[in-house]
Amino acid sequence: MRVRGRYAPSPSGPLHLGNARTALAAWRSARLQGGAFVLRVEDLDRQRSRPELIDVNLAELRWLGIDWDEGPDVGGPCGPYVQSARFARYEEALERLRGSGHTFGCWLSRKDVLEASSAPHGRPHVYGPAQRALNAAVGAARRQAGKASCERFLAPPGEIAFVDREAGPQRFDILEEIGDFVLRRADGEWAYQLAVVVDDLAMGITEEVRGEDLLVSTGAQLLLYAALGAAPPVFAHVPLLLDEDGQRMAKRRGSQTLSALREAGASPEALVGRLAHSMGWVETPAPLRAVELLDGGLGELPPAAGGNPKTQ
Ligand code: GLU
Repeated sequence: MRVRGRYAPSPSGPLHLGNARTALAAWRSARLQGGAFVLRVEDLDRQRSRPELIDVNLAELRWLGIDWDEGPDVGGPCGPYVQSARFARYEEALERLRGSGHTFGCWLSRKDVLEASSAPHGRPHVYGPAQRALNAAVGAARRQAGKASCERFLAPPGEIAFVDREAGPQRFDILEEIGDFVLRRADGEWAYQLAVVVDDLAMGITEEVRGEDLLVSTGAQLLLYAALGAAPPVFAHVPLLLDEDGQRMAKRRGSQTLSALREAGASPEALVGRLAHSMGWVETPAPLRAVELLDGGLGELPPAAGGNPKTQ
């Protein structure tokens, strides 16, 4: 089967160096295996998404030297490639999950969820048994009062384990670390976890190379793959690039953006060389064209992840 990789930017701000590095890693991995590369825009969050940034983000990626076979600007057989145009597919998947008993309605506010938490591992937002009990106690009355509910995935007890191609073996306690995650919010907006799984499945994605901050999300997503009866892709989570303060780069903090670096005179080759070096793909940070990352010798990928994810 031909490898199909993807990069899935959220147009909530200009791309920063960390985004660029993850995009390069995803593109390089797919291309080194002779695979196709898909660009999907993740604009689910209506408050944060800025539609005018979609074209800007795509242009920034092209400027770096990344290309794609399918995407919002070039089309392709699995479109549309913008999540805001794919709601019917999320609805259909949610319907299936409801039918198989994997969902429940939740009438708790964010504050309720946090307050009910005994926060054993500093994860007060994880929706576990305490929140279920509170929902059972107050849900019916709130429903009668006309309060809108969100829909959550009913997480099974046990552990989920998988082997990440970059980050190695992973294991999460489902109820303590993942919990009953949201599929559709009370305001009707679709949640990331559901949308990303539905889209990656529909787009035939065979590997997801993305930032390490999404490792726990992968646990949730693997539960969704299983509930939908589908085989998951290979996962490869790459370390996040830190900014000068040692903090994770964030679009909202205005961390080093590609546009600012470009305006300051940086060339794409200079940035690609620096990022490739930071990933350990090359020995020096000398300028490099993205396509040169695909040359023999530089083209080693870690061995494929062994074994399928399993719940226990
Ligand atoms: N849209 C997410 C982001 O920009 C990436 C999600 C993913 O790669 O699964 O952080």
